[in-house]
Amino acid sequence: MRIVLVGPPGAGKGTQAAYLANNLSIPHISTGDLFRANISQQTELGKLAKSYMDAGNLVPDEVTIAMAKDRMEKPDAENGFLLDGFPRNVSQAEALDEMLQSESMKLDAVLDLEVPEEEVVKRIAGRRICRNDSAHVFHVSYKPAAKEGVCDVCGGELYQRDDDSEETVRKRLEVYHTQTEPIIDYYKAQGLVVTISALGKVEEVTRRAMEALPQLED
Ligand SMILES: [Zn+2]
Repeated sequence: MRIVLVGPPGAGKGTQAAYLANNLSIPHISTGDLFRANISQQTELGKLAKSYMDAGNLVPDEVTIAMAKDRMEKPDAENGFLLDGFPRNVSQAEALDEMLQSESMKLDAVLDLEVPEEEVVKRIAGRRICRNDSAHVFHVSYKPAAKEGVCDVCGGELYQRDDDSEETVRKRLEVYHTQTEPIIDYYKAQGLVVTISALGKVEEVTRRAMEALPQLED
């Protein structure tokens, strides 16, 4: 099964992608991982991407698309894949369609994780991270530390990342609305979109997604 996962920042896409890919026995292909892998292995595409990033510029779509294509041609993606973070705009979606068509493949579904905007802001802006270890994550409402501002695990100081400030979250949501949301309409025209609510516990959302997708299982 070939799936594209879309949803605003704070929808829990990365977590859901990992669970769904595991349930469906297909690789989870995230653009973040693609970039990291290509850069650390110093592939030609990785070097190219890094040159843009070092100059403070966005990596052009062609480079991202070429990395995704390389990854989708690996043997473990033979029975499908779950794309996370790609495509992130309509021109990337069109390029993906062209790429798949040239290999006589097509997408089976576009899973749209829906979260109300205010919930996104609450989820992200409430995050507090430990200065000693970024894996020690708390939330002022959902997972408060026993003592405010102090990590339960190691006693380190908790802080809010710049990326997580309410102002930054609202900017990221704006970018999502203008750039990424149009791909949902693009895929709706192809009858591929499955929308589910991303509210609730992680496992509930995974179950909801699996139930929304069964008719596509082999
Ligand atoms: Zn800690």
